[in-house]
Amino acid sequence: MVSARPRIQLLPPEVAARIAAGEVIERPASVVKELLENALDAGAGRIEVEVDAGGIDRIRVLDDGCGIPPDQVVDAFERHATSKLRSEHDLYAVRTLGFRGEALAAIAAAADVDLTTRPAADDAASTVRVRDGRVQHHGAAGSAAGTSIEARDLFAALPARRRFLRAPRSEARAVAQVVTDYALAYPEVAFRLTSDGRTVLQSPGTGDPRDAVAAVHGAEIASLLRAGHADRADEEGVAAEVSVLAGPPSLHRANRGYLHLVANGRAIQSRSLAHAIEQAYAGLMPAGRHPVALVRITVPPDQVDVNVHPTKAEVRFRHERFVWSAVHAAVRDAIGAAPVADYRLSPSDTDRSLSVPASTEAGAIPLPWDPGASSSPPAAVGIDAPASGREVIAGAQGRGFVRPDEPIDDDDGREEAPSLRDRLPALRPMGQVDLTYIVAEGADGMYLVDQHAAHERVLYEQVLGRRQRGEQASQPLLEAVVASLTPSQASLAASVADGLAMIGWVLDETDGAALIVRAVPADLRGPDRADPARGLREYLDRLEAEERLTGPDRVAATLACRAAVMAGDRLDAEQQRALLVALEGCETPHSCPHGRPTMLHLSRASLDRSFGRPERSR
Ligand code: ADP
Ligand code: MG
Repeated sequence: MVSARPRIQLLPPEVAARIAAGEVIERPASVVKELLENALDAGAGRIEVEVDAGGIDRIRVLDDGCGIPPDQVVDAFERHATSKLRSEHDLYAVRTLGFRGEALAAIAAAADVDLTTRPAADDAASTVRVRDGRVQHHGAAGSAAGTSIEARDLFAALPARRRFLRAPRSEARAVAQVVTDYALAYPEVAFRLTSDGRTVLQSPGTGDPRDAVAAVHGAEIASLLRAGHADRADEEGVAAEVSVLAGPPSLHRANRGYLHLVANGRAIQSRSLAHAIEQAYAGLMPAGRHPVALVRITVPPDQVDVNVHPTKAEVRFRHERFVWSAVHAAVRDAIGAAPVADYRLSPSDTDRSLSVPASTEAGAIPLPWDPGASSSPPAAVGIDAPASGREVIAGAQGRGFVRPDEPIDDDDGREEAPSLRDRLPALRPMGQVDLTYIVAEGADGMYLVDQHAAHERVLYEQVLGRRQRGEQASQPLLEAVVASLTPSQASLAASVADGLAMIGWVLDETDGAALIVRAVPADLRGPDRADPARGLREYLDRLEAEERLTGPDRVAATLACRAAVMAGDRLDAEQQRALLVALEGCETPHSCPHGRPTMLHLSRASLDRSFGRPERSR
């Protein structure tokens, strides 16, 4: 790589003009970012960053990369001088982090800079001093192979700019964020960040992203993450490969600080892709909480434009929807959730998402108000699923037995969250508490099941399962009825017309603010079915209030909620049993579509412990 390295040259003016110019240097963190990118482009395996006073007083970045040949060190500080880009054509397939040739020039204009560099093949290093923006070449020096750059007194000569700097503590935090981003993007590189002499981040450079996450968020979180993958390409060469490490839904945080996106080796910000990640958890995580995930995306270099943002913090994918769905799928893969056909996907994507086991469908539950429904018990599913021996159910954010973020103690002492796919053991209902909870016994202790949340989960998966099979469960009305609607109900109905049809509403428009109801969803509760016009209005009102989910998930979750048994409904023994069996058949039985837990579990071991009994062998 050293000998093959192209010379540093000035970009031709027409190329320079095409570069998204910007004020690259606005704070210490931007200096650190540019210097890290240079070190990474130089192929460094070890990078050390030192800052004093948040980098305002001093920043030093040391790498063991390819170095700069002595005859080019001065050129490196010229504006638009780069070894990475030759022609305008290269701009459309950038393979390096830097390419504008601006950073060293901009840093040298904003601070006093000292650079020492030695290509591995050379015997001596060369040094450069920049004072008052003037470069002085100082010839040979002794040094290890690689490059060290130090920038002192940022903006000292530019008081107007210096005034915009924040307190050293917050500048230090911004620097740490930048180093964190790159440590996660380059697990094969060993990073060390020292702030005022204190080591604040150190990644081992093993190449395993989990080790990098451990360095950033701690070993405990890292051990809970699961790997997922999506690798997609179409006939036209549109491609995206996504590797993720994602936390279980029970691991959630109050902000997005634990979401990390990397695209072609660049740490990026993207609202849309953050949304793709969070959508993968839709219905599994409480509203307003955010998952932990490291998402690494690789696309062919000509399918991403990195030249849209001055600090390159944002990129533009040529096939954004394609990347969106690959990210979504990879996260679903990691968390062990069935892929969900998404309304955003192109038809070919959807096909891929449909490979869901048909067993998703949990049996129908004979409901008290539904004398017509079959009373024969649905086929039992998962009866011989082994009891897991764990004390907590995934997604058990309940205040009851466990704190939300508490890691789960497995029997062998290893901390591990149960997979979303962990089926329930066969549960034997023992009665209702408060006409709200079903008490049940399983192979490992006691379960307390929220009857509404559980039924919601069952119905929700049934609706999604039917959608994936292209089925519709509609109950035609003997006589169509006219439902008059408020303007907002009417416009909502129009905007989700497809979704309504999908779940079984057969509606015709009138010329006024009313709809003709010809059929209702088969799942609808008796009272709603008896008065379909009212049922439709109530459904639309609830849909409007459902702000936490979007798209078809929202339509389905609303139906599930509207159709599910309520707290206060009396369930006889057979109905309790049928509900539990149906829940056992669910893909993700542990939480309702909104992410609330469906149950609490008190294991035998935990019962014994609570009563001070000696441990029993199983
Ligand atoms: P760019 O990175 O956009 O090319 P810079 O101003 O950041 O522009 O750097 C100019 C040139 O100096 C780079 O193209 C590269 O050849 C050289 N360079 C800068 N930093 C290093 C480094 N740490 N190791 C090796 N070469 C470097
Ligand atoms: Mg650079």
